[in-house]
Amino acid sequence: MQPWTIDDLLCAQRCPRAFYLRARGAGGPRRAAERIPLSLEAARALRGEVFDCTAGEPIPEDAPALWGLHASYEDCVCEADLLVRRENGWELLLDASAYEAREPLVREASFAMRVLDGNGIHVTKVTALLLDQRFVRGEAMDYAAFYHEKDITKRARSFLPKVSDRVAKLNALASLDETPEAVLCENCLRPMECAYWPECTADLPKPNVFDLTGISAAKKLLLYRRGVITFVECLAYGELQHQQQTQILAEILHEPPHVRRAPLEAFLKTLWYPMCFLDFESCQPPVPLFEGMRPFEQMAFQYSLHVVREQGAEPEHREVIVPPGEDPRPALAEGLVRDVPENACVVVYSNGLEKHVIATLAERFPDLRRRLQRMNASMRDLIAPFRSRDYYDRAMNGSCSLKKVLPAVCPDEAEVSYERLDGVQNGHEAMRAYLRAELVDHVDWDETRARLSAYCSVDTLGMVRLVERLEQAVWPNDEGRIPQK
Ligand code: SF4
Repeated sequence: MQPWTIDDLLCAQRCPRAFYLRARGAGGPRRAAERIPLSLEAARALRGEVFDCTAGEPIPEDAPALWGLHASYEDCVCEADLLVRRENGWELLLDASAYEAREPLVREASFAMRVLDGNGIHVTKVTALLLDQRFVRGEAMDYAAFYHEKDITKRARSFLPKVSDRVAKLNALASLDETPEAVLCENCLRPMECAYWPECTADLPKPNVFDLTGISAAKKLLLYRRGVITFVECLAYGELQHQQQTQILAEILHEPPHVRRAPLEAFLKTLWYPMCFLDFESCQPPVPLFEGMRPFEQMAFQYSLHVVREQGAEPEHREVIVPPGEDPRPALAEGLVRDVPENACVVVYSNGLEKHVIATLAERFPDLRRRLQRMNASMRDLIAPFRSRDYYDRAMNGSCSLKKVLPAVCPDEAEVSYERLDGVQNGHEAMRAYLRAELVDHVDWDETRARLSAYCSVDTLGMVRLVERLEQAVWPNDEGRIPQK
């Protein structure tokens, strides 16, 4: 169980039960990292000569600065991003990976101060390295401009006396004979669902108020506390929108797919052939990787495109996947201009990312700007009829995400099944596969590329099939069609 980390301390603060289960290794993550540690390159750029403590060499007594020091004291361990020797002690620098010094960072600093002090490293100053919102990367990375240094010594010192007490509570909690009771609250659901949620809600009837989509976590908890738990109780309680009512009725009555023909027809009439089904995969690196990028800017590294030139034509597949280490923007911009026919309707699923990426490319490449801007103007969002519940199948479980909609609408089509995919089955896994290839030397890029290609092309071919299904639902006897331009 021990030694405890700052993550254990923060976890226990949010929920004693989650800490207890985590300490017993009951499946939850051991590290709930909210920040990314400072890189050695950045440490050297900020403070000059820095000794790398992760290299396994003995630490020189007169080292002016230490990077990546792991220290333990009594029942705790900490990681210090960067320690810089000062006249009267040490300065501790922590990368906040954020624009402000939030409370968890301050607590981490206090926790580290206690552990370091136990090792004879007396911290007299704590500096939070905050990201500068206005930063735009030039040709080379300028870490001094990227980080904004903020002195948080006073805040870290004020929590320091409480650290020992909190650690004692961790020990007491961990040695309980019985698992603390589950008390459902907002911490269970935000900022993301707790790893122990299925276990803590196992006794609730299924489906229940927490399975409703399109309402906030706060509202679900309010209903739960009022004893409104089953779908029948939710329906009887009232106050729900059309979206939730459709979900509940489909579930209770086991209805076939719910089709609202008039609005679906109106949506289909906003489309035209040739039609391009487009999807990007992207990541959001905190440190901008290429010139002109900002911290956490969404960086696409891949697109898949299926082009259907006329009604009934075979979809043609095009794609660009840029290997790590290469600026993906030129290849993506040139590829789009080459692959998307000039007069095409561009169909995406949940258009936020695609619109943003194309707008950013348009800004960066003035010679391609007009074509790229026209793509954005021709963009139609296929999530709309599923979000509005104009088409709803109970197999969607209340969700309008493509990962739920596609298997629900096309359950028997192997070519658009995510389940058959190897290694990459969603956008998060795609991002991780790409970043892993970027960061780890021995990753087989050809294999990663093949997985990324297979995944993203299911998304775009899946959209082709969804439009076909909507057409069949609205015009079962071929009495209408999407126009050709
Ligand atoms: S689901 Fe809620 S009650 Fe259960 S462990 Fe997580 S935070 Fe605690």
